[in-house]
Amino acid sequence: MPGMEAKDIKIHGASLDKAVRDKLPSSHITDILGRLKSDVVATEQILRETKIGMTVNKLRGHSDKAVSELAKDIVNKWKRDVSAKPKSGSSGDGKGGVAMKKESSTNGASGRDTPGKSTPTPSGARKGSTSAVDPMKRNKTTDGINCDIHDEEPRNKCLGMLYDGLCLGSDAPPDDIFKIAKEIEQNLYRNHGNRVNDQYRQKLRSIFLNLKDLKNPNLRKNVLSGRIEPARLAMMTSEEMASAERKREDEKIEQENMKEAMTAKAPTSVTDQLRCGKCGKRNVSYSQAQTRSADEPMTTFCECLECGKRWKFS
Ligand SMILES: [Zn+2]
Repeated sequence: MPGMEAKDIKIHGASLDKAVRDKLPSSHITDILGRLKSDVVATEQILRETKIGMTVNKLRGHSDKAVSELAKDIVNKWKRDVSAKPKSGSSGDGKGGVAMKKESSTNGASGRDTPGKSTPTPSGARKGSTSAVDPMKRNKTTDGINCDIHDEEPRNKCLGMLYDGLCLGSDAPPDDIFKIAKEIEQNLYRNHGNRVNDQYRQKLRSIFLNLKDLKNPNLRKNVLSGRIEPARLAMMTSEEMASAERKREDEKIEQENMKEAMTAKAPTSVTDQLRCGKCGKRNVSYSQAQTRSADEPMTTFCECLECGKRWKFS
């Protein structure tokens, strides 16, 4: 992905600050903003490291509309960049990247054991016959699935992972699950130019991890029931695959991180100097943020600790 490097972003940020401070013509400011808009692919880390979010955010209150509108545009674009990140970047380390590790840890007791190795069952005794395997311990081995159907070995391995993800907790017949796993793999393969490349592997890991996610049983169910078709699953982003619950959590964290990255906020303090207009008590927490351009006064955000009323003044 193209993108301006952190050090260049910092340089742009410094020129932006200087242009505002020296009251240079707006066109000078919009020039710099234009470059930031087209060349910066925002991530939380970039915003934090370069503090460019704060710089641009302040310009949303600039007196020249050309500047303030452009600044708003950029802030919105960066918010979208940051929320789109699970597709690549940090999700590689966060969600997708741990796929392989997770696989071995969750599957350790049941899935990947070599035949010779004894298999200690951690919780309770394994039910007598293999046909009565606990659904949560199902996998291609317990189900007797042979994944060696393609000439390309990595495809067979991927097929096995998809099967292991899909069968978890299910009571569906192995043949049905295998059929769906094959369709998903075929779509993945086709979507990546009929090649096993890094993108194919990355997508596979992302799907596998989401299928195996214990907090997201609905994804497995929806795929097995056909509500989510194999072709559709092969195209979904990890965000789309994440459970609604997780999605909300992610959004909340994202918003908080964004807020933190975009505003220069002083720590919250409590004072008896401010009086709540609603309940009249003097137990108010407040914090200050430079939300508008640098030469405008700070905004003070207040919250009454007695009744919860919030207000602000500058
Ligand atoms: Zn109050």
